[in-house]
Amino acid sequence: MPNWELVRQDFSELHQNMNGERLAYLDNAATSLKPTSVIDRLVSFYQRENANVHRGTYQLSFKATAEYENARKIVQRFINAKSSREIIFTRGTTESINLIASTYGEQNIESGDEIVISLAEHHSNLIPWQQLAIRKKAVLKYINLTPTGEIDLADAKQKITAKTKIVAVAHIGNVLGNVSPIRELAGVAHQNGAIIVVDGAQAACHVPIDVQKLAADFYAFSGHKMLGPTGIGVLYGNQQLLEQMPPYQFGGEMITDVQLDNSQWDQIPYKFEAGTPNIAGAVGLATAIKYLEQVGMTQIRIRDTKLMAYLVPKLIAIPGVKVYGSQNPQQHVGVVSFNLGTLHPHDVATALDMEGVAVRAGHHCAEPLVHSLGTNATVRASLAFYNNQADCDQLINAIKETKEFFKGELR
Ligand code: PMP
Repeated sequence: MPNWELVRQDFSELHQNMNGERLAYLDNAATSLKPTSVIDRLVSFYQRENANVHRGTYQLSFKATAEYENARKIVQRFINAKSSREIIFTRGTTESINLIASTYGEQNIESGDEIVISLAEHHSNLIPWQQLAIRKKAVLKYINLTPTGEIDLADAKQKITAKTKIVAVAHIGNVLGNVSPIRELAGVAHQNGAIIVVDGAQAACHVPIDVQKLAADFYAFSGHKMLGPTGIGVLYGNQQLLEQMPPYQFGGEMITDVQLDNSQWDQIPYKFEAGTPNIAGAVGLATAIKYLEQVGMTQIRIRDTKLMAYLVPKLIAIPGVKVYGSQNPQQHVGVVSFNLGTLHPHDVATALDMEGVAVRAGHHCAEPLVHSLGTNATVRASLAFYNNQADCDQLINAIKETKEFFKGELR
């Protein structure tokens, strides 16, 4: 088992004060902190290896190209894709999903077709499908949630029909932290001739990912939520699907031949990577993955469960706190949403910040889900493996102090 206090030493951002208090960073679902190895790798890349990729005929460019392509292989191994050609570097989950909607979606969705997502989706996995449906006069259907906010599999089986072309769901929800039954949904999608797109933004830093076991046709995630830099993300796509899809953007490095009146596209993944890519970002992401693998995704999953099992019952025990979703800490993978009486979540988050606790408040870019919980906004605490019990205690104490402070206004 890793020495978690030593692990914390790798995250320099943790070791500072906020508003005169020890920082308890509990907004990991928004973005993770970065270990020293990732920061150092970015610096060393820019200091000694920076050159453009796939176009130079000199040593430095060969080296940068090798590092960039090695990053692709590291991602491939991390999610157990069959081939590194199935890994496309993007700016993040949002761009990855937009890429699918704009290419596969444009090519395959016709009037009357159905796209099925769940009521729990982040706007990044909702709006691209909503807009595609509007453009194509297709039907966007929503899978209902159970009373505790999980995907209702029985409803999914009703909603996914022979007319369905695309099913798109999050692997782990960003408001409640629950894990979706991806394999089962993939089975239902495939039986009906549809493909499944998985939004893995919240999963990549919490659970081992195996795109083959999940039977995902597409899997999208962001580097910045898994210890990597911002501005780099991944789209995994099944090779056969990627080969049939048209390009996303046009420009340099995605072609084999350009004539005055037409052009030929390069093979995958380059067909989808027009222009100079985020080379340092990919190299930094590879270092982040190496770090995660060194700590161990299974150990991370165990650590997560332990921290949630410590935090969630303490939260529930505070009179006036309402925890959303399942009360079972096993089903809150790294994320718990709550409200404190009738206080506005933004006021709660501001009060917690005064105690050094960083949490997010609002609709968390998942308005339909938050409304289905019977509210407009929640406070969200989201943990990573480098958090500890002291962070959880600090949150609990800060909530109690906030309660005391707003005593007169609490209902
Ligand atoms: N999906 C989910 C479930 C998320 O939590 C997020 C980030 N909050 C996204 C998609 C979008 O990720 P990004 O902003 O990195 O593109």
